[in-house]
Parts: sequence; C-alpha cells; structure tokens
Amino acid sequence: MFEIELLKSRILTEGQVLPGNILKVDSFLNHQIDVKLLYEMGKEFAIRFKGAGVTKILTVESSGIAVAALCGLVMEVPVVFAKKHQTSNLDSNVYSASVESFTHGRTYNIRVSKKYIGCSDRVLIVDDFLANGRALLGLAQIVEEAGAELVGAAIAIEKGFQGGGDMIRRMGIRVESLVIIDRMDDDGNIVFRE
Ligand code: 5GP
Repeated sequence: MFEIELLKSRILTEGQVLPGNILKVDSFLNHQIDVKLLYEMGKEFAIRFKGAGVTKILTVESSGIAVAALCGLVMEVPVVFAKKHQTSNLDSNVYSASVESFTHGRTYNIRVSKKYIGCSDRVLIVDDFLANGRALLGLAQIVEEAGAELVGAAIAIEKGFQGGGDMIRRMGIRVESLVIIDRMDDDGNIVFRE
C-alpha cells in the first residue's frame, strides 16, 4: 500500500510555501522527479480506480506529465497530455478548452488532437495539483467534447482551502487526492486534512 505519510513528510521537509498560496515541491514532483515515489503513487491510483475500466489517462503539460506517465505504466493505458501551445506538429483537428492558470495568472488554451481521445474511451484525468479546479474543468470539457466517459480525477496534492476539489465533487465527478492540504502559510506551516 502507498505510504501517504511518506508523501506528507516529503512535502513537510522539502516543500516551500511561496507567496500567493503556491507550494513548491521541485525536488520530487515539479522539476526533479522522484520516479520511484511517482511509481508508488501510480500504484495507489490504480488500486483506487480498479474496475473503473480506464482506457486512457489525460493530463496537461508540463507538470502533470510525470505523475500521469507513471500512472499509465501501472494501469497499462496510454497517456495523453493536453498541449498549452499551438505547435506545428500538432494537427489542426483538436479539442480545445480555455483554462485560467493559477500559477501564471493568465488564461491559455489547451488542445488535444482528436486522434487520441474518442467516444469509446473511459478517461482518468491525472494532475500534480488541484487548486481552483480550472485545469481539471478544462480537461473535463475536452473529455466531454470527445464524447468520452470521464471516470474521475487522480490528484497528487489537493489544496483543499482553494475550493476547486469541492466544486468538482459537487458536479458529480469523482476526485481522488492522495493528500489534501487544509491550510498553509508563508512561514511554511502546512496542515493536512486527516
Ligand atoms: P487549478 O487549475 O486547480 O487552479 O490549478 C491546477 C494547476 O496549477 C496544476 O496543473 C498545477 O500545475 C498548478 N498548480 C496549482 N497550485 C499549485 C501549487 O501550489 N504548486 C505548484 N507547483 N503548481 C500548482
């Protein structure tokens, strides 16, 4: 079984609380990647969504990709990441949604090629953080546009005090977060939900 306490202690010892309610966990999740830890997270998500018939994992670049990839490895399904930039190697036949970025304070479009999600898919959204829920809503919109089934969302760290998770759950979407932070402050105090 995944040691939730291990993830909590990594957050407490290595995490930095930045102004604006941003938790920096660059040493294992968002810059340097502790692959073994993310593999264990993937195993835990696979247990929680066992029997849900997931055929595809969907995330958004860039920081969701690592956790999604390890989840896809365990669940043995392809991982698709929504792109934030229109690049020449992304074909024009795309699903798109507009997302207000929490960390960058601006709105951007996310796009997924229609080749990679279809109406027979059962999609699990995976992301590193859930804050106001905008990224998740944008991804859910793409799943809906594709006519696919949204199985739920697997989140490494939910910042419960920002309310996105509650809003998404109220919409009837299943959200599984490994840890939920109820409070944090600029002095580095972090309080987890029990
Ligand atoms: P939301 O759309 O739920 O407000 O924010 C989720 C997205 O913003 C995630 O994809 C994540 O990359 C980024 N994000 C939100 N809060 C944090 C945070 O405290 N730390 C980091 N590193 N990223 C965050």
